[in-house]
Amino acid sequence: MSPLRGGPSLELDDLLELTFDAVFVRRLGDQVITYWNAGCEELYGWPADEAVGRRVDELLQTRYPDPPEVIEQQVTTRGRWEGNLTQHARDGRELVVASRCVRRRSARGEHEAVVEVHRDVTRRVKTEERLKEANESLKLLLSGVRDYAVFMLDPAGNVMTWNEGAQQINGYAPEEIIGKHFSVFFEAPDVHSGKPEWELLVADREDRFEEEGWRVRKDGSKFWANVVITALRDPEGRLAGFGKVTRDVTERKRFEERRAEEQQRKAEQLRRQAQHMAELEKVKRDFLNLASHELRGPLSVLRGYMSMIEDGTLSVERFPDFVPLLSAKLRQIELVVTQMLDTARLESGRLTLRHETFDLRQTVARIVETFRPLAAEEHTLDLVGPEAPLLVTADRERIETAVSNLIDNAIKYSPDGGAVTCLVAATASRVFVSVRDQGLGIDAEDLPRLFTPFGRIVTADNAHISGTGLGLYLSREILRQQGGDILVASTPGRGSTFTVTLPLQASQAAPAQARADRGQADL
Ligand code: ADP
Repeated sequence: MSPLRGGPSLELDDLLELTFDAVFVRRLGDQVITYWNAGCEELYGWPADEAVGRRVDELLQTRYPDPPEVIEQQVTTRGRWEGNLTQHARDGRELVVASRCVRRRSARGEHEAVVEVHRDVTRRVKTEERLKEANESLKLLLSGVRDYAVFMLDPAGNVMTWNEGAQQINGYAPEEIIGKHFSVFFEAPDVHSGKPEWELLVADREDRFEEEGWRVRKDGSKFWANVVITALRDPEGRLAGFGKVTRDVTERKRFEERRAEEQQRKAEQLRRQAQHMAELEKVKRDFLNLASHELRGPLSVLRGYMSMIEDGTLSVERFPDFVPLLSAKLRQIELVVTQMLDTARLESGRLTLRHETFDLRQTVARIVETFRPLAAEEHTLDLVGPEAPLLVTADRERIETAVSNLIDNAIKYSPDGGAVTCLVAATASRVFVSVRDQGLGIDAEDLPRLFTPFGRIVTADNAHISGTGLGLYLSREILRQQGGDILVASTPGRGSTFTVTLPLQASQAAPAQARADRGQADL
């Protein structure tokens, strides 16, 4: 135990030595130490015999929060002073102590003394200082953050602070928004449904609320916000307000939306492709079905005649009329096969046209004769044409195919018979081959569909008539490639007129002679 010199009283010595606090006594005015307890020794590293007799401010290199004279004055007049002092231990360590000074007359009554009780608060003070600094830096940091709106709300949801980012994102200057309720950031229907209050309720109950949603800027424009609200509590756990961090993630949202749209578009495209494939499959199946029906009719006729020839019941000498009929049936088969081949060529871009100059009148006359045996007894088949040859330059075989298809259709689609009339005519620049029947006719609304691939118009009246739906489509395509076309006029129940038109020289320069030789006729 340190020797007691000039201590307050003998009875207190032991007690003072026992306390953990540093307690010393100094003289008022000159600050000379008269008593120094074990706590002082421990705190400052100075033993009592070295400390006693020295000025405390010198020994401990004290730094005062106020001028020392002012403090001394206070001790003198008020009898006490309290405050933090910065001092140094013997080994040079800086200490912050909480000091309480009380004025006392010394035990022996020789002088006015000051009892000082010091407690080491270095760690606490340093921690507080660091915290304060950190707080300041954080504040500075938050105020300058531009990408995030970081601000505080009071427990009722009114804006209390506002940072640079908040101004940037929401558009309000601090003075415009502080004190206002944060529901101004919401769309009207959200406000109406109580969303802002609900968010605070959740944040209060669960300490945190997070969501993404549309929010409104000062200028009324919308942005997609990522919002985090955190409940802030005082040390007793009472709600002190909310911290709110908002980020404008509109760009990301738009990107995601675009990606979703893109994916949806692709999915839709795939669906349509799959649907298209399925339709194509069906078209293929239907076509095979139709084509085989179309071929089977004339083939079975041919087969029948063939058997009769084989068993000797039929001979050309005895029944010469059956030869043209066989020829017509063969022509029908050829027609279907040619249409199939040409459609395949057309679709794959491999269709090449061969131009030659020929007499259209004669060509049509020959086709009419080929088909004549097919016209049932109830049909009449007539050709009306110019006297003189009508020379045209075009792909002869394909013009023949187109006209054959029209005559074949005219007979097919007038099952109750009637007149089928073929008219060949020309103007100064074009030729026309018109095939008119008195058959089933076609509804006006169905006309555009006739010229599409497989464009069959199936009605109760014609369901029993077989066909592939390729003829008109193919004919129009081929004619158009040569500067021509197919026109149609039809009245349901009264009949149809299909007309092939063609320039005299089908999209190629024809020899001058051909033009001069050409026959003319009026329509
Ligand atoms: P196909 O006769 O092989 O079915 P086309 O392309 O020649 O194919 O004709 C397409 C459709 O047009 C026919 O299925 C039929 O419905 C209709 N059509 C063609 N010609 C006539 C016509 N002269 N009278 C009534 N309908 C016709």
